[in-house]
Amino acid sequence: MRTRAEADVVVCGGGTAGAVAAIASARTGARTLLVDQYGRVGGMASAGMSFLGVSDAGGRRALGGIGAELFERLEAIGAAFADRPDRQVGSVTVADPLALQHVLLTMLVEAGVQFLLHAFCADVLMEGRRVRGIVVADKAGIELVRARAIVDATGDGDIAARAGARFVLGRDRDGVMQPATRIFRMAGVDVEAMFAYLREHPEEMDVPERWDGSGYTAEDLRHTSVVMDAFPGLVAQARATGELTVPRDRIGIETGPVPGVVTINATRVHGVDGTDPEAVSRAEIETQRQMFEVSQFLRRRVPGFERAWLLDAAYQIGIRETRHILGEYVLTLDDVLAGRDFPDTVARGAYPVDLHDVHAGAEVLGRAVGGGGVTLRRIERAYGIPFRCLVPADVDGVAVAGRAISATHEAAGSVRGQAVCMATGHAAGTIAALSAKRDIVPRSLSVASIQQVLAAQRAILFAGSVPP
Ligand SMILES: Cc1cc2nc3c(=O)[nH]c(=O)nc-3n(C[C@H](O)[C@H](O)[C@H](O)COP(=O)(O)OP(=O)(O)OC[C@H]3O[C@@H](n4cnc5c(N)ncnc54)[C@H](O)[C@@H]3O)c2cc1C
Repeated sequence: MRTRAEADVVVCGGGTAGAVAAIASARTGARTLLVDQYGRVGGMASAGMSFLGVSDAGGRRALGGIGAELFERLEAIGAAFADRPDRQVGSVTVADPLALQHVLLTMLVEAGVQFLLHAFCADVLMEGRRVRGIVVADKAGIELVRARAIVDATGDGDIAARAGARFVLGRDRDGVMQPATRIFRMAGVDVEAMFAYLREHPEEMDVPERWDGSGYTAEDLRHTSVVMDAFPGLVAQARATGELTVPRDRIGIETGPVPGVVTINATRVHGVDGTDPEAVSRAEIETQRQMFEVSQFLRRRVPGFERAWLLDAAYQIGIRETRHILGEYVLTLDDVLAGRDFPDTVARGAYPVDLHDVHAGAEVLGRAVGGGGVTLRRIERAYGIPFRCLVPADVDGVAVAGRAISATHEAAGSVRGQAVCMATGHAAGTIAALSAKRDIVPRSLSVASIQQVLAAQRAILFAGSVPP
């Protein structure tokens, strides 16, 4: 097999976690190659959703380092407003998705990262239990990319799984996974008219039953720009008449820095295994149908949308959950809700535990759900994420970043948040670079050496950045 490239660190996946991991790795002094199946970076974070829980409900910052720098650079060009407090989700940071991709790309280039785009990571090169490279399928055929260390930031844990790492697909006891959703954006929305309607109809913005926290006013929502789950009455009417067939009780709408443009989170397909190509193909088609249906519903029924049009759709269906790669520690719901710290903390999280109904009649956090809702648990105090959650228990040479790190289904409901993925990306990139430089496997690194480098790069590891 032809060798395409060699690098100290190869980051597989240039999404939410992977782009940050590659910047971290290069800044830590490793020759870094970023590989992605598409010609872009930013992953799901570039689909237009806001970053929830950059700070916890107590007002403590959880994301520092490269993620914080990204927001500072976006704010400096008027493309983001950062970290507005919110009762349910800690805080809301909103960024224009195209500016976000541009600034991330700029930071990658400045850091000296090399790129191999339009290359799918299909297999691994093993030496015993250590991964020594990846096999990519690209326009030139099937090629080898050799590496001293690898960051698996594919979201699905593709690399670790190919290498033989054990994982849990979805929920441990029954294998169910969170539903899939295509995010899309609409332009030409009269946002003021929408807020005026909500002011007159507070029942259309009340806090859903399975959420922590108290109600919003229209002014709260204008301030954070996120109308998290709204219009239950209008949706119920449209579902009753068959105008709306999407299995969702409410519509998520985010108004961003671009006037008249909103992001819509409303499509839903249950039972999609994001690692099964046929299931993903079916869900891609169904969510594209739903996207059009929801946009027509909004135009017809929701004040402010009368002259709105579909602007664009996320580059692919959004998969909330697939593999959880097993590390030497599995983060639990209790860890997350208790704001637990660990001696080997390498990142922090404060995104709420956000569990979309896995299917009608299923049980979520001890309650039967109808299929159309969301369970949301607030994070009072940000929690630590141990180094042990980023290193597969039975494979060497790989650090995992993003939504596939070692966590239970429930804890992953928080770990999957964009700010948390950026924090684990920063940690995994640093871990891979340090292990490549010292030519040892990640698990042999001293925790202190990782924490020292991360702290020097302004990552927040402990509440107030003071080790426990
Ligand atoms: C519908 C939906 C709504 C959400 N809403 C919010 C929200 O409002 N706020 C929030 O904070 N979070 C939200 N989330 C969660 C969050 O967006 C994601 O969990 C997070 O962005 C995942 O980051 P990641 O880096 O793990 O994966 P991704 O960002 O998906 O990145 C994975 C990258 O790897 C690449 N890749 C994958 N496999 C391969 C391969 N084999 N070879 C090469 N490249 C590969 C992909 O192209 C992609 O670039 C939402 C998620 C979904 C699905």
